[in-house]
Amino acid sequence: MKYLGAHVSAAGGVENAPGNAKKIGASCFALFTKNQRQWQAKPLSDQNINQFKSNCRTLGFGPGQILAHDSYLINLGHPEQAALEKSRLAFIDEMQRCHQLGIAMLNFHPGSTLKKVSMDDCLATIAQSINLALQDVPDVIAVIENTAGQGSNVGFAFEQIKSVIDRVDDQSRVGVCIDTCHAFAAGYDLVSREGYEKTWDLFDTIIGFDKLKGMHLNDAKKQINSRVDRHESIGKGQLGLAAFRQIMADKRLDHIPMILETPDNDIWAEELSLLKSMINP
Ligand SMILES: [Zn+2]
Ligand SMILES: [Zn+2]
Repeated sequence: MKYLGAHVSAAGGVENAPGNAKKIGASCFALFTKNQRQWQAKPLSDQNINQFKSNCRTLGFGPGQILAHDSYLINLGHPEQAALEKSRLAFIDEMQRCHQLGIAMLNFHPGSTLKKVSMDDCLATIAQSINLALQDVPDVIAVIENTAGQGSNVGFAFEQIKSVIDRVDDQSRVGVCIDTCHAFAAGYDLVSREGYEKTWDLFDTIIGFDKLKGMHLNDAKKQINSRVDRHESIGKGQLGLAAFRQIMADKRLDHIPMILETPDNDIWAEELSLLKSMINP
């Protein structure tokens, strides 16, 4: 069983996201619970919360089928104290919003060194940021997304993600989301048969499938190991249909939200149908 969906709009209120997902034939979805380009957000009203929950229930989206995404502004590994504090508070607010909405998982980009600290210091700061958030907010799982390794972003190698996970106190509340475009940009082959198997073998050995809580399904504009984060529509980039056929046939990737973040939302419904057609019965 594969859950397939997209990062849908929550314009006009979070309660609109489930309907937007249903419209494109999705069986899971991602959303921002606030404007992703602003630090401040109005608190969620009871109306937002109740309507969101009731829409999810009516349309059949359970907690395992919703993956919230945090704001792009947040850097949980920020090298400067004041800015780190700001990011940590914003992240806790995002966790709280998920908790209020009954969302079980919050996906985030780990952070960046901004070329001011070592990779390991940055990874340690990120782990500490996660610990603080898990202490403050119950239940919600912090889901670390692998990055393309663009600029000074950390978390592009499985070992880096693992080193964050190892420093999280509550192992039951930390997970991983693998973005196919980011993995490819970071040098992980998902196209050739051998490359695909090797990538997931490494993932399993270093992190473990039990930690895999979601995936972002994006084709990649740039070649393997480009370290450039540019998404492309499914089948139209360097990953191509071959990569997605292997993913859709892979039972180890069942029962997690698989989310499109591809650039042309007008064809999301088609992309989902195409992916569905690749699932082996
Ligand atoms: Zn992503
Ligand atoms: Zn990306």
